[in-house]
Amino acid sequence: MKQLEHIGIAVKDIDQAIDCYSRLLNTSCYKTEVVESQQVTTAFFKLKEQKIELLAATSSESVIARFIKKSGEGLHHIAFEVDDIKQEMKRLEQEGFTPLQKDPFKGADNKWVAFYHPKDAHGMLVEICQEIH
Ligand code: ZN
Repeated sequence: MKQLEHIGIAVKDIDQAIDCYSRLLNTSCYKTEVVESQQVTTAFFKLKEQKIELLAATSSESVIARFIKKSGEGLHHIAFEVDDIKQEMKRLEQEGFTPLQKDPFKGADNKWVAFYHPKDAHGMLVEICQEIH
């Protein structure tokens, strides 16, 4: 894996969270984007190479709605950038990590993404992502 790409934070209210993180990081949100397939609104902040991704549910069926109901707001996942997501998925499968989907799907911020079950990474939901060229 190349680098820590971003940290995902589950939030209840995207506008309030954008305001909060703008003040915390002292930088503006550079992008908001709805990912229909995941029923989330995302907002991104960039610090040098790493990003912060805020995620809010757009429906009560969203994974983020279920996460917040169970665990409250806060750290949701960590994402690592990879060069070849399909190759990395093969490697992770051989290492015994459990994918949450069969194939990579189109996530926010122009990326192919895949998620791995937290039970295999000491409670941390792991995302791998590859820039779509
Ligand atoms: Zn993410």
